[in-house]
Amino acid sequence: MAKKQESDLQRIRAELDGLNMRLLELLNERSLLVEKIGPVKLAAGHRLYDPVREAEQLERLMLANQGPLSNAMLEQIFRSIFRTALSQQTEGGGARAPLVMERGAGSRRVPVGDIAIGGGKPVIIAGPCAVEDEEALDRVAARLKELGVAFLRGGAFKPRTSPYAFQGLGMDGIRMLARAGARHGLKVVTELTDPALLDEYVEAVDVIQVGTNNMFNYDLLKKLGQVDKPVLLKRHFAARMDEWMLAAEYLYAGGNRNVVLCERGIRTFETSTRYSLDISAIGLVKSSTELPIVVDISHAAGRRDLLLPLAKASLAAGADGLMVEVHEHPDVAMSDGAQQLDLEQFAQFMADLRPFLESVNA
Ligand code: PEP
Ligand code: MN
Repeated sequence: MAKKQESDLQRIRAELDGLNMRLLELLNERSLLVEKIGPVKLAAGHRLYDPVREAEQLERLMLANQGPLSNAMLEQIFRSIFRTALSQQTEGGGARAPLVMERGAGSRRVPVGDIAIGGGKPVIIAGPCAVEDEEALDRVAARLKELGVAFLRGGAFKPRTSPYAFQGLGMDGIRMLARAGARHGLKVVTELTDPALLDEYVEAVDVIQVGTNNMFNYDLLKKLGQVDKPVLLKRHFAARMDEWMLAAEYLYAGGNRNVVLCERGIRTFETSTRYSLDISAIGLVKSSTELPIVVDISHAAGRRDLLLPLAKASLAAGADGLMVEVHEHPDVAMSDGAQQLDLEQFAQFMADLRPFLESVNA
């Protein structure tokens, strides 16, 4: 008799184990939907917690309940499921940047006119720290084109630490960039600091850069979410990965998925380089988001002698592109002279890098 009871017990336990597995599957299926509903609710202007909807769901379940589970027990179980779902949406039980981290390990191609950043050959974005004069910019652009570079960079609105430092040529600089880009068939990348100038940027440039100082400027990010112009979102020099991903989430939440991340070095205790290039960031971005990532080696290093090794390391880690500052005469540049390459040095840099560029994920 004891033997029969023992085998009954084993059978029922096995059945319960089976049911547990089915419940687990269903709970995870539900949790997957919960991950998706948060941003949709917010985008539609709803609050994450809706007690009326919760009461309705419970009522429907109780009316359908045929027992033997009592309605009181059923309520206890489902209230706990609802509470867990809410914390998943509000406390990062799921991804804290759910749209950005929705499709991990993929790589999105961000189209920029007839080319793209991400999912193909790494791109080079080069040009002076700041636009200083049109003829010099034109000569740099011409050389970049000859060297196979596709993107021309240059700051026209320069967010400088000191109010007395060169602040850039403003809209004149933007127009110079646009003309140089058009003349030489280069895409223009430049930083936007003032949301009021967004429409003019959308007209004149190909990729709008958010500089390190503005990664936490949520009003600027919200405005950039409203357009479909590609955005190069630099990491704040003191931003954690999650803060950076949430900055990108602002763009995604507004509807702009043409986002390229840019690692440009973070501030550490080290003073022999301007910042410390966070190579791990490249792998983390690649494994947890679909976004392409470009590495600005110039601002990270702050000195030209380290550019080549940082470029190689970035490409080896999977970067979708590099940003490099190039100036005709770095020694007399209005800003960031120590980290800029002159045209000859840049040509050598490109020659040294060529085998690496060709060997990675073309
Ligand atoms: C720049 O790229 O021109 C620039 C100022 O870089 P960051 O914002 O990374 O300092
Ligand atoms: Mn610079």
